[in-house]
Amino acid sequence: MRLIVQKYGGTSVGSAERIRAVAQRLIETQRDQCRVVAVISAMAGVTDNLIKLAHEVAPHPTERELDKLLATGEHAATALTAMAVNALGAKAVSLTGAEAGVLTDRAHSRAKIANISPRHIQELLAEDFIVVVAGFQGHSPEGETTTLGRGGSDLSAIALAGALNADACEIYTDVDGVFTCDPRLVKDAQKIDEVAYDELLEMAGAGAKVMQSRAVEFAKKFSVPFEVRSSFTRGPGTIATEETANMEDVVIRGVSIDRKQAKITINGVPDSAGVAGRIFSAISAGEIIVDMIVQNVSAGNTTGISFTIHESELARTEELLRPVVDQIRATGVTSQSGVAKLSVVGIGMRSHSGVAARFFECLGRGGINIQLISTSEIKIAVVIDEADAERAAQLTHQEFGLGRTTGARQSR
Ligand code: ASP
Ligand code: MG
Repeated sequence: MRLIVQKYGGTSVGSAERIRAVAQRLIETQRDQCRVVAVISAMAGVTDNLIKLAHEVAPHPTERELDKLLATGEHAATALTAMAVNALGAKAVSLTGAEAGVLTDRAHSRAKIANISPRHIQELLAEDFIVVVAGFQGHSPEGETTTLGRGGSDLSAIALAGALNADACEIYTDVDGVFTCDPRLVKDAQKIDEVAYDELLEMAGAGAKVMQSRAVEFAKKFSVPFEVRSSFTRGPGTIATEETANMEDVVIRGVSIDRKQAKITINGVPDSAGVAGRIFSAISAGEIIVDMIVQNVSAGNTTGISFTIHESELARTEELLRPVVDQIRATGVTSQSGVAKLSVVGIGMRSHSGVAARFFECLGRGGINIQLISTSEIKIAVVIDEADAERAAQLTHQEFGLGRTTGARQSR
């Protein structure tokens, strides 16, 4: 018999009606001669509300108590799902992360999974139960409740699929799969049939939020293929796997936009060892996430360093930079908010030449000025004015033939 892990996100279990629909789907899967493990997130909005509530009773709630509190969101959703399955005449039991054997380290609110002992789950499956596991949580070696970071149910599902050696792992969400671009921006965007783990990771880093990145990293490390699909419709979704040879035929898999970015440039930075380290240590001390970093070739022993951050961190970053800029005797800092990062991603870039030229020429024809450029082996990203973002995404999407009407089918 096949073993299937199905993960349902918050919107998929967002109401009693939705939970009954999930229960129905679990039962249908079981009737299809499968053993079924469901991994469930808290009902939509519940985790956010609990966090809000915590901050209303305490300005700085301890992470231990916060984990205890947040874990209840998934407890409720799993118990409700199991009840719904039972009410429809099939057998289900719900398990907390600890009961499911998910052992983590001790890092509350961002715990890493150390090991999964799936014995209890396997026993229940052997007795024909649908096993409904609370996502996003585990227990420390001391038995304390831990959580895996926001969106962590994705990670729970992938890790359980790996530990159980499941035949399939299906991630159910409120979209049909991974798209060539955000369909709200590019009407012509189409669902991708197959994507390589690395592409999905780059797309997530470029602003496309489909799956928790840690979950994709885990899937890649332990070779756990999975499918992202909709719990609202019946069609196939997007399969994420290790790359295959024919995946390289498609030059660009997708176009991503990351809005609300800010760009900071430090001018006249002395070109000597240790200077960049001092600048970025100061910023990292404020736990600010820096995205692109570009340093110019030096001229006359000074250089310029530019980088991007989220717009909301701009004021704090400038404050953190002020003393360092004085210390290193740089000449000044300029900054600009209201910029966006536009990225093209595809493993096909490795074997096709001229992708950068095509991308930049396309933007040039559209009169869109490029402010910064950075690349990885399978991604080219540019910083542009946020006002141009939507149009730039549309032009790029069209240039690489990604659309439903203009483009080739995406793989398969
Ligand atoms: N409920 C948790 C969150 O909102 C985990 C998840 O949904 O995956 O982050
Ligand atoms: Mg989620």
